[in-house]
Amino acid sequence: MKELIRNMIKGVSDIVFPRVCVCCGRENTECQRQLCSFCLQERFADANPQNNRISSDILLPAGVIAQHAMWTFDKGGELQDLMHLLKYERLTTIGLDLGRKLGERVRKHPFLEKKLSRRTSVILPVPLHYLKYRYRGFNQAFKIARGFQQVWTDLALCERTCVVRRKNTRTQTGFSLEKRLKNMKNAFRLNDPSQLAGQLVVIIDDVFTTGATTFELAQTVLKAEAHAVVILTVAQA
Ligand SMILES: [Zn+2]
Repeated sequence: MKELIRNMIKGVSDIVFPRVCVCCGRENTECQRQLCSFCLQERFADANPQNNRISSDILLPAGVIAQHAMWTFDKGGELQDLMHLLKYERLTTIGLDLGRKLGERVRKHPFLEKKLSRRTSVILPVPLHYLKYRYRGFNQAFKIARGFQQVWTDLALCERTCVVRRKNTRTQTGFSLEKRLKNMKNAFRLNDPSQLAGQLVVIIDDVFTTGATTFELAQTVLKAEAHAVVILTVAQA
């Protein structure tokens, strides 16, 4: 009976307030998701169309064995709008949708699938400085990581205090790589190396730009004697 009433209420609410995709505004029949199937499957350009490259033609630092992004960032476009909704409009379930999609992509990536399946691995979302965290109320990279973990259920998620960000950097847009690297030097502090030692650490973030942030985090993680690092992001700028 309760189930019937719940379904009736849901039916009425779907007629009065039809669920729409936050990206394209079309009706979204997937009640657990913010994004429709089209936006998740086809709207954005693949950054790695064959889904088999190890990196986006950049030199990876020692210890970083792969850098994989799902889509190409479209400055001023719909993907940027979507990231904005996630970050600043607190539509945090977008992060779960994107993380799950990233997890599914990695499942089909021959090298990454093998690495993540065969080696004990932990997921480390890029930490936010506590002031930014307090202001925003959540870390978007953590939401993406949570979605990723729903696909990779054997992987543990590092505790939020394991590695913290001690530098509250402003946006680095427009800075040279040299300046970005200088700004990010010693930006992270390792609090609990035991969570990372011997592990393949899967760093997750929203957008990969020059690598200044994720590479610095990788160096911090490797000091904890992590086995190696993989960097995964939703987008590649
Ligand atoms: Zn859509």
